[in-house]
Amino acid sequence: MNLIEKDSQYLWHPYTQHKTASLPIAITKGEGALLWDENNKEYIDAIASWWVNPYGHSNQFIADAIYKQLTTLEHVLFGGFTHEPAVVLAEKLMAILPENQQKIFFSDNGSTAVEVAIKVALQYFFNKGEKRTTIIAFENAFHGDTFAAMAASGISFYTQAFQGMFIDVVRIPVPVKGQEQVSFEALKKVIQDHNCAGFIFEPLVQGAAGMVMYEPEALDELIKICQENHVITIADEVMTGFGKTGKTFAMDYATQKPDIMCLSKALTGGTIPMAITTFTQEIFEAFYDDDINKALFHGHTFTANPTGCAAALASLELLQTPEMQSNLERVNASHLAFQEHIKTHPKVTATRVLGVVFALEIKKESDESYYGTMRNKLYNFFIENGVILRPVGNIVYILPPYIMTNEQLQKVYQVVENALEIV
Ligand SMILES: *Cc1c(COP(=O)(O)O)cnc(C)c1O
Repeated sequence: MNLIEKDSQYLWHPYTQHKTASLPIAITKGEGALLWDENNKEYIDAIASWWVNPYGHSNQFIADAIYKQLTTLEHVLFGGFTHEPAVVLAEKLMAILPENQQKIFFSDNGSTAVEVAIKVALQYFFNKGEKRTTIIAFENAFHGDTFAAMAASGISFYTQAFQGMFIDVVRIPVPVKGQEQVSFEALKKVIQDHNCAGFIFEPLVQGAAGMVMYEPEALDELIKICQENHVITIADEVMTGFGKTGKTFAMDYATQKPDIMCLSKALTGGTIPMAITTFTQEIFEAFYDDDINKALFHGHTFTANPTGCAAALASLELLQTPEMQSNLERVNASHLAFQEHIKTHPKVTATRVLGVVFALEIKKESDESYYGTMRNKLYNFFIENGVILRPVGNIVYILPPYIMTNEQLQKVYQVVENALEIV
């Protein structure tokens, strides 16, 4: 049996209807922005493998840091123990996070980072003896697939089987251009009508919704409304963090700062699963007490895994090099030029660019579902042409590793432009 046959026999893939899905592609090697399959066919990874890999595949610098850590201290439990990689990483993050972020809590993936954030927002008020149990979230949000994260997510087929089993979540519209006031008013009304504990949002870009974007001024206003009403704000930067928007964090564009932040994906440069939730001192203090019941009873076996911390430290170092910062600008300028070129195409109804994120919407005849016909046609066309892109319904987005070369970027754009002719 070959790899694909064995895969079909043993494995269950994410977001996959195995009866109708085409067989997976077996990838054997990665380098820079490229991946190769078992037949040695080359692919450009134009979505950084689900947004985790900014510095390129099989990055030697991160690999060396991981190897060194593995042969020094691969893992130690974090309950009652600590270690240098966790402390140094916390210190380095504190220097680049918004100033009000003072405490760092480790977990394993984006969903758990969100899970921790929501549990802390709820327990914060429980510890203070205040009854606040509603979480506010955006329409079409995506915050992950564990239960609280799923409850906060608004993309229906991810969550439809579990309706009625969730914590209380109330949704408000995203303040996209022209809809800002509607969003502000909705937030005020929700706060008036419910006992709201927290407001969770993807700052400036809603990734899974199809790179839906809104302005920092609108976010500032929403955060202000929350602050006036003592509602905890949670910035889910799992996708946007570590340079994707052009700044280190999307929140760097805003004047107001959130109470809680969630980080994962690019944190370790796409090597080791790890996540972080960060908090203000004020939130930490609501748990700091002689009473053990007020503690945060949440943890994971691999909390603050030293090897993951070493990978994160190496990744952070790469992000902060002048070369990587100029890559961010180069990719952004390249996207803007492609946007100018493609936005008047008769089949293109909208384009968006922020940092290294590019998105275009294709004219559609009928309602295109998330995994609909147009999406599948596009996806297959991209794969045939050696470019990995995962359209969301009629939206095609590009989120390349920052190190993608200009030639590779041009090839991706050309394939996207050609795809407009087949739909
Ligand atoms: C991917 C993502 C998550 C979930 O992260 P996982 O590591 O897949 O659990 C949460 N929030 C946002 C904004 C994401 O993009």
